[in-house]
Amino acid sequence: MPRKRRFGISLNEDLAEKLDAICSVIGVSRSSFIQDAIEFGIKAHLHYTVEHYCEGVMIAIWPSSEKNIQEVGEKLEKYKDIIVFNTHLHSKDNCILIASLKGSSNVIANLHTDLKKMEKVNVMYVPFSIME
Ligand SMILES: [Zn+2]
Repeated sequence: MPRKRRFGISLNEDLAEKLDAICSVIGVSRSSFIQDAIEFGIKAHLHYTVEHYCEGVMIAIWPSSEKNIQEVGEKLEKYKDIIVFNTHLHSKDNCILIASLKGSSNVIANLHTDLKKMEKVNVMYVPFSIME
């Protein structure tokens, strides 16, 4: 078993409550849940640290509005060279963008950063390969 390093972290109260509720429902310790969540985040974001040819899926979810739809349209045009295909769905009052991407990991990272600039957007990149 790999050596573990112990350190304290501070979370917003509402996030801590959600963490406790999830851990209670799925029956894992906070440490175990946080280990998995950080591992997932690091695996995805490691692709942004070293430039390489990368393939994956980016998912963005944001509250529907005319302004946001126009903004996303502009971003899709700007990054069209790395977008293999994309689809736009709706669920309740949210827009969901699912884009299959191929290209420079730096450009994919720029798209991620650009999408994150929108109001109340959640962005997730799921690369098709694992970097160690
Ligand atoms: Zn990659």
